[in-house]
Amino acid sequence: MTADTIADPVTHTFEADVAKLLHLMVHSVYSDKDVFLRELISNAADACEKLRYEAIADPALLGDDPQPRITITLDADNRQMTLEDNGIGMSAAEMGETLGTIARSGTKAFMDQLAAAKSGEDTQLIGQFGVGFYSAFMVADKVDVLARKAGSDQAAIWSSDGQGTYTLAPIDTDTAPTRGTRIVLHLMADAGDYAEAHTIRRIVKAQSGHVPVPIQIKDKPDAEPSEIADGTALWTRPKAEITTEEYADFYRSVAGQFDAPALTLHYKAEGRYEYSVLAFVPETRPFDLFDPDRQGRMKLYVRRIFITDEAQLLPRYLRFVRGLVDSADLPLNMSREMIQDSPILTTIQKGLTGKILGELEKTAKDDAEAYARIWEAFGAVIKEGLYEDFERRETLLGLARFKTTASNGEWRSLADYVAAMRENQTAIYYAVGTDLDRIASSPQIEGFRARGIEVLLLPDQVDSFWVTGGLDLDGKPFKSVTQGAADLSLIPLAEGAEAAKPEASAEVDAFLSFVGETLGDAVSQVRASDRLTDSAVCLVASEGALDKQLEKLLAGAGQSPAGTKPVLEVNAAHRQIEKLAALGTDDPLRGDAPYLLLDEARIADGEPPLDPRAFAERLGRLIQRAAG
Ligand code: ADP
Repeated sequence: MTADTIADPVTHTFEADVAKLLHLMVHSVYSDKDVFLRELISNAADACEKLRYEAIADPALLGDDPQPRITITLDADNRQMTLEDNGIGMSAAEMGETLGTIARSGTKAFMDQLAAAKSGEDTQLIGQFGVGFYSAFMVADKVDVLARKAGSDQAAIWSSDGQGTYTLAPIDTDTAPTRGTRIVLHLMADAGDYAEAHTIRRIVKAQSGHVPVPIQIKDKPDAEPSEIADGTALWTRPKAEITTEEYADFYRSVAGQFDAPALTLHYKAEGRYEYSVLAFVPETRPFDLFDPDRQGRMKLYVRRIFITDEAQLLPRYLRFVRGLVDSADLPLNMSREMIQDSPILTTIQKGLTGKILGELEKTAKDDAEAYARIWEAFGAVIKEGLYEDFERRETLLGLARFKTTASNGEWRSLADYVAAMRENQTAIYYAVGTDLDRIASSPQIEGFRARGIEVLLLPDQVDSFWVTGGLDLDGKPFKSVTQGAADLSLIPLAEGAEAAKPEASAEVDAFLSFVGETLGDAVSQVRASDRLTDSAVCLVASEGALDKQLEKLLAGAGQSPAGTKPVLEVNAAHRQIEKLAALGTDDPLRGDAPYLLLDEARIADGEPPLDPRAFAERLGRLIQRAAG
């Protein structure tokens, strides 16, 4: 017996994650159960396409049945629906592997997300998630999968009621499909509709009319089959004949998404190489958008034959784009590995990337609202391009949108920012963090507000990376508000605003020296600030050091940064500081003050006090004193 064959029926337990997913399915996470059919048809079409590809190298696999086909057979009397394809099929071992586990890392991540979601959020999450084979359990209380791998004389049956276990058993080849996979759904009592011809015809036409494999239906087990979809690939039809609805249906089946496309791009490139493109920008984030492997999902076809969805047809920062490229020039018999290195692919990548960025630019110009929605969903990913795609930085900077201190929650472009720059302002200022509101209220930007200087608020992880990449816009560098001396004094205050001045009275000066001596190594410097208005203190990075937020990120990733100490900046004109500076040298509060100021600045940054216990004691003393 080889790994691909089995002798006896064996019962297996589902992987914990599958059991969880099945539980979700059985308890009907989707209100729209029809989607199960799209998932099964999409798997069947994939199986036919895989066989077409394998048969290029080994034509014998097709035998005397070269035409790919999906057949749906209905049996209303027995409440059964059967879906059969003559594709690549599965061996018993493959069924155990693929129908008993969850292979895609994204699915696992999705399950975790779902487990952590508050109720109400979960349905929203589910809507972004292609459920695959297991969705059959939304409508069936028992599912049998009979399969025979192309070219094999062994067949097996996988069977489950979705309740924690499945059985694998060998079957006679005359009860199995000659080649491919037959899925028998024993429909639930309230799902009998799915054995009715008009229901199935309607759903297939609406959801799967454009899969590139013909679909036929048998209204009864012994009826003659009739065709309900001809397998004409949508992308080969002229654009003018295709409706928005047809594009949307195709998008949902090719992307495994449940929304509608925000942008549709359908064109044929003619030049040195010829290829067709049908690509979509989704409306909502695909569930695997932040998978660590950052894989794109664009499919590559060669003359209508599906080759792979693993060729990187787009840079990773455009991985949210779904759809396909059909090349007329790539040789069919090229291995997938060689395709990746082929000059044709490089040309396609370049052309496609340019087209998509061009389409985004056009949308940004013509329909700012639609563009804002796209940016809202995918901006955090597109920004990765700012440090990964040197060649297209300018285009990407043009596409980038930001929330700023002046934007009232709207998205602003850098062109908007530059147009609003103050006199003498030489840099584009930004503040990074993890939470928009917190960044917007951080003490470090008070002085910028007082001078009417706009600050970009950057809440995404990727922001800490691209801003340090030495980018500039027309010679204006990006500069962090927490970095170095802000040198704001050259820019006049906005009318009526007050801000700290770097000059301090002799008394305050002496106090600052005392704070510096007391804190010693905990900070690199204590100095009077010109970036504060309301707050008494804040922490900034010393000149030339890493931005504080980036330092935190690196520390979080286990890379201990160089350990540069922050600068404590003090608002010399603040009442709190003037009062502290006036305390007698023997006043007990004077000894506590330097530590309290440092911790005050740390807490404003969302960090714990340096020594929480000592902080609590100092705070206790302060409260006692204040209470008299
Ligand atoms: P996905 O299709 O996203 O990988 P599914 O849960 O739908 O996830 O399917 C899991 C796997 O089972 C597929 O990747 C494929 O290997 C296999 N499979 C499902 N249906 C078929 C089929 N009709 N023919 C061959 N293999 C199939």
